[in-house]
Amino acid sequence: MKKFKKLLALGTAAIIMAASLAACGKTENSTVVFGTNAEFPPFEFVTSEGTIGQYDGIDIAIAKKIGEDIGKDAEINNMEFDSLLIALQNGQVDAVIAGMTVTDERKESVDFSIPYYTATQVMIVKEDSTIAKAADMADKKIVVIQGYTGETVVNDLGYKYESFKKGTEAVLELVNGKCDVVVIDSATAAKYVKDNEGLKIVEDPESFAAEEYAIAVKKGNTELLDKINTSIQKMIDDGTISELSAKYLDADTE
Ligand code: GLN
Repeated sequence: MKKFKKLLALGTAAIIMAASLAACGKTENSTVVFGTNAEFPPFEFVTSEGTIGQYDGIDIAIAKKIGEDIGKDAEINNMEFDSLLIALQNGQVDAVIAGMTVTDERKESVDFSIPYYTATQVMIVKEDSTIAKAADMADKKIVVIQGYTGETVVNDLGYKYESFKKGTEAVLELVNGKCDVVVIDSATAAKYVKDNEGLKIVEDPESFAAEEYAIAVKKGNTELLDKINTSIQKMIDDGTISELSAKYLDADTE
């Protein structure tokens, strides 16, 4: 009899444990999955101990805070920049945060949040370069990154260019003297110039318009978009985004 009671107690304990484990276990609804391309410092990069897993940067910190604000764990799905909007459309990710510029073309396939950062294209050149404005690139070897707005801008100017998959590859090409100029977003350019000796940034606001970064969601997903917008607005108002930008621009991580 005694033995039976003990077994019953053990059995009950096991059921309670199983039930509470199930309650703690992650269901699909307890996470919000962000797609990114972690090749774009200071917005997203891979590091040993990141803010979410091995990923860190301004966007990753923003994603984590959005998760906290909407009561879900933020997860990162790292993929090629070109695949991000497709992953959103086929439901592989819930949102895309990737230093992504809002463009009319992209707006045809996804919906964008309110903008959280303003950037522009700039030119990275060797310190002794004579390139002083966009038009000076006309007869030079130009490198851009595939699928970035920098590629569109150079293409629209009508100049020939070569495209690389990663910003680091493009900058290496410049450092090694194999090209004359890399056209890329301003904050990322600042990071590369800081991390590589002998380079400088050339700006040309007359040729390169302001670009706004925003988070993309699947077309029509107003439920998530509204929550993201509320969270971003809060982070703009309380200075979180400015603080994160300053922190990651100064950081020596990549
Ligand atoms: N802002 C650029 C674009 O939207 C580059 C973004 C990125 O590389 N992550 O194309």
